[in-house]
Amino acid sequence: MNEPTLSRAISCTDDYDPNSMPVAKAREVIARFLAPVSTTERVHARAALGRVLAADVISPLDVPAHDNSAMDGYAVRFADLPREGQVTMTVAGTAFAGAPFTGSVAPGACVRIMTGGVVPAGADTIIMQEHVEAKNDRVTIGAGHRKGQNLRRAGEDLAAGQVALRHGITLRPAEVGLISSLGLPEVTVYRRLRAAFFSTGDELVSLGTVPKEGQIYDSNRYTIHGMLTRLGCEVIDMGVVRDDPKLLEQAFSEAAAAADVVITSGGVSVGEADFVKELLNKMGEVVFWKIAMKPGRPLAYGRIGNAHFFGLPGNPVSVMVTFYQFVRDALLKLAGCDPVPPLPTFKVPCTSPLKKAPGRTEFQRGILTQDANGAWSVRVTGEQGSGILRSMSEANCFIILPTEQGNVAAGTPVDVQVMEGVI
Ligand code: AMP
Ligand code: MG
Repeated sequence: MNEPTLSRAISCTDDYDPNSMPVAKAREVIARFLAPVSTTERVHARAALGRVLAADVISPLDVPAHDNSAMDGYAVRFADLPREGQVTMTVAGTAFAGAPFTGSVAPGACVRIMTGGVVPAGADTIIMQEHVEAKNDRVTIGAGHRKGQNLRRAGEDLAAGQVALRHGITLRPAEVGLISSLGLPEVTVYRRLRAAFFSTGDELVSLGTVPKEGQIYDSNRYTIHGMLTRLGCEVIDMGVVRDDPKLLEQAFSEAAAAADVVITSGGVSVGEADFVKELLNKMGEVVFWKIAMKPGRPLAYGRIGNAHFFGLPGNPVSVMVTFYQFVRDALLKLAGCDPVPPLPTFKVPCTSPLKKAPGRTEFQRGILTQDANGAWSVRVTGEQGSGILRSMSEANCFIILPTEQGNVAAGTPVDVQVMEGVI
């Protein structure tokens, strides 16, 4: 019998150490197991916002459809314009946007034309209204114009038959507008990814229940719900599941049957992981990693039945960091995004000194701001404990400190990654 695929792939990975898994390596292993959804559906242009395009959109028409004016002015024959001095022409009519001039422009005549108006037959050049002297139905035009000026050519943005949008992109308002501009009422998108999630922990209560002594409110399920929703997933909230092997087994199998992806929080740290490990090895193929990162050290990844599984740590900040660093890209890839757009990352000076021990990649929470001169810098949000959810709420970026980095002096440029789209 073949070895299970996940362990086979991992065993081929150089210096694999589940107790100190580099962030990049964990991403690499995960990426190898992600086969995007293939089912597609047709949706109305407006309902396509946030969906992943499953087939190229081919333009059925030239954009713009006709030669048209880029300015309010006069449509003329270039040959009628003077090399020097001036010429006076009769205005034969008006071409409005949506109400073209139906005749053709006779030699020596011109047509008043508004922005977007179809350039009438015979005319090849537009003179801006600011550059003429108009009196009754006559205009006087000087020298110095260029043939074809102020004119937008049919098909200059997009020719009929050309690819307007490539499959694999997530549709934003700009694309919804572009699709509409082509007169396409519907587009083909991938079906939404289904994600089931639950929190594990005897200490947790959901909103609406009063915590007893030693109990706390569940927050991870609410942040996970928010992050999944922002990514466009169909969500299945399975509530809080007690640290009880029977209940957990039932929850895992229900979740895996209902969804493409199962996401849990808690129960993967040392001690707790043991019985979850045993359980999941029975139900599928799951690896338990200690990622060389802070926060977010323990992470479980694998398959339960046909579903992908991410077992996130319990601490509220760790949940968000691991979701951002591993789950986001994986879900986008599964949803059909190709390529998965990376989160914008760039270097700015850090105005606060940062405490950092070499050995793990750190994702500190940062606040990017602009000073009065328009220059950007970042500062840390204060205490960085993995239970301090307020640090995520105050932050608008991660400050990413590489593995070997030690303490950072104030003023040093650091990598920041904008928290955009998900959080
Ligand atoms: P665990 O990984 O299950 O040991 O949890 C680590 C820490 O995170 C503990 O302090 C838990 O109480 C806390 N925690 C776990 N799950 C949640 C949750 N859903 N909401 C808030 N805190 C949690
Ligand atoms: Mg727990």
